[in-house]
Amino acid sequence: MTDHETFACVVGAGPAGLVTALGPARAGVPFVLLDENHGPVADSRAVTVRARLAERGHSVLSGHRVSGVDGYTINGKDAEGRPFTMRARHVVGADSLHSTVREASARRRSHWPDGCRRSGGGRP
Ligand SMILES: Cc1cc2nc3c(=O)[nH]c(=O)nc-3n(C[C@H](O)[C@H](O)[C@H](O)COP(=O)(O)OP(=O)(O)OC[C@H]3O[C@@H](n4cnc5c(N)ncnc54)[C@H](O)[C@@H]3O)c2cc1C
Repeated sequence: MTDHETFACVVGAGPAGLVTALGPARAGVPFVLLDENHGPVADSRAVTVRARLAERGHSVLSGHRVSGVDGYTINGKDAEGRPFTMRARHVVGADSLHSTVREASARRRSHWPDGCRRSGGGRP
């Protein structure tokens, strides 16, 4: 089991995740960008951005598949199939259409009182 801790975690290194990661990168906020793919994709999906983030010392974890999010803890398997956990104050679900992160977040919200759900906010 590998454990990581960071301030922000962006799940998914497609266009949405890469653009999101530029925010904390520019602000000097510690973050981890992780993706289940084992390396940069060779098409137009901002391959340069991902490489530059890694070059500049930001943590870019390839081959890390997220399987669930429970509160501030992200669970999944790393490139060797070993379980990992990551604790992060902020988690961004940029993991595509059938997002594991957003699905987990929606499940949590379903336990909120009606007012919170309707307003889309009210809790961290
Ligand atoms: C054949 C094809 C052609 C397309 N052509 C165009 C086009 O011409 N113009 C256009 O605007 N759009 C096009 N699209 C759509 C385009 O792919 C999306 O608009 C864009 O990629 C969405 O970006 P995204 O970052 O939201 O998701 P994605 O690009 O899908 O990135 C999501 C990332 O999250 C990772 N991920 C997913 N689940 C997990 C998980 N559980 N754990 C860890 N990582 C995970 C994936 O590996 C992926 O790298 C096309 C799509 C396809 C399939």
